[in-house]
Amino acid sequence: MLILPDVKVYDTLVIGMGPAGATAAYQLSRAGLSVLGLDKATHPRYKVCGGGLSARIDRILEDDYKSVVEHTIYGIQFSYRGADPFFLDSSSPIAYTVMRDRFDHFLVEKARRAGTEVHEDEPVTSCRQLFDGIEVTTDRGRYLAKVLIGADGANSLVAQQLFPGRRSRRMATLESEIPIGTAPHYPGTGRALIDIGATPAGYAWIFPKQERLSVGVGDLRGGLASPKKIFDRFVRNEKGLAPWKVPQPIGHPLPIFSEHNEANRESVGLVSGHALLVGDAGHLVDPLFGEGIYYAVRSGQLAAESILNQVNDRRCSLADYEGAVRREIYEEFRVAARMANILYSYPRFCHRLMPRYQHIVLLYYDVLRGRETYQTFYARAKSVAKSSFKELLLEAVSLR
Ligand SMILES: Cc1cc2nc3c(=O)[nH]c(=O)nc-3n(C[C@H](O)[C@H](O)[C@H](O)COP(=O)(O)OP(=O)(O)OC[C@H]3O[C@@H](n4cnc5c(N)ncnc54)[C@H](O)[C@@H]3O)c2cc1C
Repeated sequence: MLILPDVKVYDTLVIGMGPAGATAAYQLSRAGLSVLGLDKATHPRYKVCGGGLSARIDRILEDDYKSVVEHTIYGIQFSYRGADPFFLDSSSPIAYTVMRDRFDHFLVEKARRAGTEVHEDEPVTSCRQLFDGIEVTTDRGRYLAKVLIGADGANSLVAQQLFPGRRSRRMATLESEIPIGTAPHYPGTGRALIDIGATPAGYAWIFPKQERLSVGVGDLRGGLASPKKIFDRFVRNEKGLAPWKVPQPIGHPLPIFSEHNEANRESVGLVSGHALLVGDAGHLVDPLFGEGIYYAVRSGQLAAESILNQVNDRRCSLADYEGAVRREIYEEFRVAARMANILYSYPRFCHRLMPRYQHIVLLYYDVLRGRETYQTFYARAKSVAKSSFKELLLEAVSLR
């Protein structure tokens, strides 16, 4: 690496200080590495997001994040096209909701306190692999680092510049935040709403926050042909939203997991030279319900672990990060993709079965809590389906 006298070489440079980047930066700084975190925005910044955190986040985040939790979710109301509500509550939390400006700011400050040098309002304009490191340029300067973490979200510049040809699915979503003040929450305190018939192959949601409702639609298989129409229809059908004026929704791409390049079906990588992709930049979004925050945090942690391992043990390499993601996250996403295929191909059928198979819905809640995995859930659900085959067939016929 050509080092100029006035240029500091960081152990790690993180581009993007959302949940993925801030978590990685925190772990690395805490372990004593020199870390620079660059973000084009200044935190707290607004981020289009439902802000739903599955309760399994408790297994990977220290408890202090609870100070920014807006609402605790114990149950879900499942609807089909605004009708046939079915709700199932449980006795312990299945999810939490956060506003992303507060949550992300909390994580950034934590990284800063651990020693990360954070530069905000400084967009990265280019990055380049060097023989033994990385060079990053912004309109304020030029930085050198031994390793680069690309945590710059769905439209990742790092992915575009250092992972050429990486093309994965990005789904259309629309979301609005309704200010409700101190009025009672809809569909009820401690409840979120999921409508699995509201979009052709995805779902619509209402997630309660302290004084708001996050309302949105997303299509997890294809693009939404007319997202605004679908959003408006969902809002119209949800009578519980009638008292409120719904602000114009904002769109944002959701980079759903896919293991292969869309163009040539080649496997997509997460490590290239001295660079790693985490969170949305690496398309680490659950293909069943589009959950990305948990996987952003977890991939940030896995990236930090592999960088630290490499520092401490010459036999380790950055490629170990990709192996860890494949084992821990891809294995789960593959099964989630199978479940999504069933749910979004037969949403009405699946919705009809929920009241009768409440133990399966409760088992899914345990997936959200991290007590079960998609893999164990799927195996159990499949064996129930096999043993009730005749009954299910009759139900399917009755829907034709
Ligand atoms: C409508 C919608 C609803 C969603 N709802 C949920 C939900 O309820 N639950 C859930 O788990 N997930 C949800 N997601 C997904 C979730 O928002 C993402 O998976 C999550 O934000 C990924 O975190 P990240 O850190 O990878 O990226 P981000 O949170 O996008 O952070 C990227 C950061 O990089 C910065 N950046 C970008 N480009 C540059 C650059 N060139 N230079 C410097 N900085 C840069 C940005 O300013 C940003 O701070 C939703 C997504 C959408 C679109």
